[in-house]
Amino acid sequence: MTDATPNTKSMDDIMALCKRRGFVYQASEIYGGINGFWDYGPLGAQLKKNLRDAWWQDIVMHPCRGKPGPDGKPVEIVPVDSCIIQNPKVWEASGHVGGFNDPMVDCKETKNRYRADHLLCMGMKGDSTGQIYAYIENNDDSFAAALKKLSKYKKQELTKDDIDICALTALSTEELVVTVGPDAKEAGTLTEPRAFNLMFKTYVGATASEDDVAYLRPETAQGIFVNFKNVVDTTRVGVPFGIAQTGKAFRNEVTPRNFTFRSREFEQMEIEFFCHKDDAPAWYQFWRDERMKWWQEIGLGGNNLQMREHDADELAHYAKDGGGAADVEYRFPFTAPGFGELEGIAYRSDYDLRQHAEHSGAKLEYFDTTRGELAKNGQPKGERYLPHVIEPSAGLDRGVLAILCEAYTPDPDRASGVFMKFHPRVAPIKAAVFPLVNKDGMPEVAATLHAELVRRFGHLGFIETDAKQSIGKRYARMDEAGCPYCFTIDGDTLNDNTVTVRDRDTASQERIALDAVGAFLAEKLGIG
Ligand code: ATP
Repeated sequence: MTDATPNTKSMDDIMALCKRRGFVYQASEIYGGINGFWDYGPLGAQLKKNLRDAWWQDIVMHPCRGKPGPDGKPVEIVPVDSCIIQNPKVWEASGHVGGFNDPMVDCKETKNRYRADHLLCMGMKGDSTGQIYAYIENNDDSFAAALKKLSKYKKQELTKDDIDICALTALSTEELVVTVGPDAKEAGTLTEPRAFNLMFKTYVGATASEDDVAYLRPETAQGIFVNFKNVVDTTRVGVPFGIAQTGKAFRNEVTPRNFTFRSREFEQMEIEFFCHKDDAPAWYQFWRDERMKWWQEIGLGGNNLQMREHDADELAHYAKDGGGAADVEYRFPFTAPGFGELEGIAYRSDYDLRQHAEHSGAKLEYFDTTRGELAKNGQPKGERYLPHVIEPSAGLDRGVLAILCEAYTPDPDRASGVFMKFHPRVAPIKAAVFPLVNKDGMPEVAATLHAELVRRFGHLGFIETDAKQSIGKRYARMDEAGCPYCFTIDGDTLNDNTVTVRDRDTASQERIALDAVGAFLAEKLGIG
């Protein structure tokens, strides 16, 4: 809650636009949907691809857009594409089989299930007898609802100052008996927190016996660690370097919600950056800054983005002194005035490689010829070590959701009432070409220009053309789809070879030469 400006956009309106314009649909919608799963429609699929492509371009093809690392040298990153299903021992080594559990509580009255670590509870200050706790989730609405319930129970109007708040997990079993769940009427309906394994189980092979159990990966990261040696042995990379991967991950989340924010199937974009232990703090700082800047430059430059350094008690078990963890967070309409995580940047020490070395018996140490004491010939003797790791781990679907929320711009002066202010780099439709009317030679000129733009820019996104309805309605459609530029062929085009360009953000129009359209668009898309 670092900024006073709340994100007041309506999530219902954003979700309605996503459905109406084909960005996001409920998965299996004609069968009533399936909780925690979402499909992308034509515009959403392209938006998601554009965001993934931008990440791939700026991480793998041209790491950090040429910015050198803290060692002054170009940053080196190579990709892998590993399987969703791995040997189950991978997940034992990583700690996911034993430890990937979220404690959860069930409400016997409402049948709702909550993550215990997401629930807070409140009670009256100084009230040590016969207390009742109303459980709240960590947001303002549920705080207000809980306060109301508690006031009603205590028969007095309570304010924030009258109450104490503590984490649900801090309560004893007896105290649980006098609790009211966030949506329940009765006290004592919440179960004790129980562990819940988040990995989806499946069976490999035909027999489906317990020996054949396998898991859908809950993160892409482990597919990188288990290939570390392969990559070192088969390429010319040397520490420091990174391995990057994008792909699906699956978690049987206890409470999927907030649209695509917490889904059971989602896509990650992860980097494991391997470096010498002594260099880890500098690389951690580098990646922290770099990843924040990237999200800002891709269209989240406003005050809804923040970097939050984790408190010491939040740090994962593998994080050691001198390391740290931070999240890039976005203020979604449903988290406002709070923030939700988009990407975690974590110092993981040598934890993962060490775990895999121990569990597999493979030698995963790296022989660094640039380090160690100097030999008589003046050359370093080399040093053998397990590299330490900085992990920038981003959620692609959460990125898309943040971009959708940020782009959503109500504007009562427009026919559409709203436009999607996508950064041109991620906009699913890059441009539209319209004949003003569908006659008098205009459709032919439009078709030629459309074909030229598709040839030149079609690999970046859709180039639309449309002759139906009034030009105002066509602009309105493009506003809702977030198309940055519309080019209209009209009567004047046929006389003086100029076209109208309409700018999505200002709705202003200017005339440019027909043969300058390609160069104009290239410049605006940043590829001129
Ligand atoms: P959370 O605390 O929100 O559950 P996490 O800290 O467990 O997230 P990580 O394991 O660090 O998340 O995963 C890296 C990224 O993957 C997150 O920053 C997020 O963008 C994305 N992610 C994780 N879980 C989900 C999910 N259930 N749905 C969509 N994206 C997710």
